[in-house]
Amino acid sequence: MAAQTCISISELHPNFCHPKVAGVVIGKSDVRSFPDRKNIGVDRYTFGFTIRDSPNFFINVTAWGNSGYINGLSSSFNIGDCVNIQNPLVASKDPEKADKFSPETPSLYRLMVMEAHSQVYVCAEMDTVDRMLPLIHLPVKDSRDFYSLGDIVANGQKLNGSVINILAAVRWIGELKQFTTSDGRKGQRLEVKLFDDSVPSFPLVCWDRETIQLIQTLIPKETVLFIADAKINFDSFRNGMTATVNSKTIITVNPDTREASLLFSYAKEVSETGGLDEDEKTEDVPVESITDVYTVSQLKQKAQDDQDVFFGITYSFISKLDLDSSVSKVIRTRCTRCKFLVTEEMQSCSNPLCQGRDQGFSSTTAFDLLVDFTDHTGTLHTCSLKSPVAEKTLGCTTEEFTRLTDDERTTMKWKFLLERCKIYVKILPSNTMRTKIRVVVLACSLADPGEVKQHMSALQQRL
Ligand SMILES: [Zn+2]
Repeated sequence: MAAQTCISISELHPNFCHPKVAGVVIGKSDVRSFPDRKNIGVDRYTFGFTIRDSPNFFINVTAWGNSGYINGLSSSFNIGDCVNIQNPLVASKDPEKADKFSPETPSLYRLMVMEAHSQVYVCAEMDTVDRMLPLIHLPVKDSRDFYSLGDIVANGQKLNGSVINILAAVRWIGELKQFTTSDGRKGQRLEVKLFDDSVPSFPLVCWDRETIQLIQTLIPKETVLFIADAKINFDSFRNGMTATVNSKTIITVNPDTREASLLFSYAKEVSETGGLDEDEKTEDVPVESITDVYTVSQLKQKAQDDQDVFFGITYSFISKLDLDSSVSKVIRTRCTRCKFLVTEEMQSCSNPLCQGRDQGFSSTTAFDLLVDFTDHTGTLHTCSLKSPVAEKTLGCTTEEFTRLTDDERTTMKWKFLLERCKIYVKILPSNTMRTKIRVVVLACSLADPGEVKQHMSALQQRL
């Protein structure tokens, strides 16, 4: 059996007997069941997957059988695994029926797998695996044939109902929502927010368990997706466009293409320098409505326990405030269009993906500080203090700040450093930060000593 060589997908033909095929799994559907027309009261089970063995060739495989066989087979491999298929039936494609709901493939055929005839197992031959694995990073469509999120938004309702390819980065992965349909079937839904240099947030909805499993392994802000054949719809509830993954969609994670690698660099740069943070401010509550007081360790504990955004006040000392380091560390200038960092001298955006670079350059200058807060219970590191909160706190504009002498900056720093402040914070649990918690300062001012005393004794009593 092991001696039998594999036939490449491009050479497959219905006349072959006992073919053996190998390929990397690039797509996979959930198991579904249908009533068997020949056996009343019995259900037949099926699922599909797509395998690829060369840059240009991939083929759909459908497995049929009873519940035990199909569920067992489906759980024996995942997207990204290399599989061998022994003795499948090679059938012509049927574009009106089965293949209507499967991904588009270049092959004229599809493979059928049945328990009595065929065998599917995860490939253990290392040289085959080494040869196949890189194929998982090649988009299944022309790598230049895609819509940017800006294209989708610009086309708007014209794209309603259409099927397109998308290249975008993952910004945020939502929580899995489980539900039961009116006819008693269990369902699930996962929403992902995509971004690129033209649109900061765009929804992608997944319903399939296999897709959701794949998505849940991705690292937000460090992953680029080529989504082949995503369905675009106008969502009247949100009054905007959404993309949906369906049974014809194939997602390529971190595609090995020039466009994807440019987008990857952009995503990493803009998220590491905090360029995506501004948009998260939109859901902020008015500072006056924040009343809960916490110590530093209570803030950390609550972030860990709840895994949800919350707001609070802490009376802490500013233990790090680098106002007298180079101005470029205090004030940052970004391209207005794509949020990429630019240096003051630059009169253009250096992000090669930035759209309309030739349409004239405009930039926004803002405070972008990282500060530490300390009280008797611990320290909150790298809290983000940005415009316009920073202007209010420091009492000067970015323009005024750039004109200060070194001595004046040092004086300004010591007005706050090691002083007890009343700090309004927004806390975001974070899986990408080393500290597991992201702190955004909403307001900060020197604290009234009487007020501090009152709150400290209240906190002590609570402990
Ligand atoms: Zn730009």
